[in-house]
Amino acid sequence: MVGGSAVKRIGLIGGMSWQSSALYYSLINELVHDRLGGFHSADCLLASVDFAEIELMQQTGDWDAAGERLAREAAALELAGADLVVLCTNTMHKVAGAIEEAIDIPLLHLGDVTAEAVLAAGLDTVGLLGTRFTMQEAFYRERLESHGLTVIVPTPEQQAVVNRIIYDELVAGVVLDSSRAEYLAIIDSLGAPGVILGCTEIELLVGPEDTPLPLFPTTRLHAMAAVDAALA
Ligand code: GLU
Repeated sequence: MVGGSAVKRIGLIGGMSWQSSALYYSLINELVHDRLGGFHSADCLLASVDFAEIELMQQTGDWDAAGERLAREAAALELAGADLVVLCTNTMHKVAGAIEEAIDIPLLHLGDVTAEAVLAAGLDTVGLLGTRFTMQEAFYRERLESHGLTVIVPTPEQQAVVNRIIYDELVAGVVLDSSRAEYLAIIDSLGAPGVILGCTEIELLVGPEDTPLPLFPTTRLHAMAAVDAALA
């Protein structure tokens, strides 16, 4: 609790990449203002890591080091008064367990938030786009499946395209029409009734105006859930 008010302090672990952390920060403030009006904005803390350090750990498969690194950030946020932690990347939920072990406040797991949004939309099957880690490995897909969802991922060739556009373009703030067209072709080909934008930068490229299919933009959904939790 902050300053005697019932509003909780949100601790964000960002920088992965800062392009999407900036979106989290805007959304969280806008959503609090929409709910409380006046001069209200979010009470939040942002621990923004150097993405080069994290990306190297991803490439070398040093997930233990990545878990320790992000757990330290989470503990620092708790020490600074955060009431909950929001890890602003789908991929790094691979080390959610290490983070949860380091803190006594809740980690608002993005897989749970996203699965609940898909179920609330009345779907039990959903496509998943994200980094190669998110699409290929079990940690994220199984979290979605634990809510009863069937998850469809792109073919290996398509996954390579989706992953390349994230790391070569979106994390650097490069948004190209040609890449949007590639994403939309892949989204169409999945044959899913809805698609999770399961990387926090994808919604900088693709939005509801681009396709009639229901999309589940994980940055927006996570920001909404964080504000719900902060104002509950
Ligand atoms: N923001 C991304 C995600 O949501 C990818 C960057 C990262 O590897 O953390 O997965």
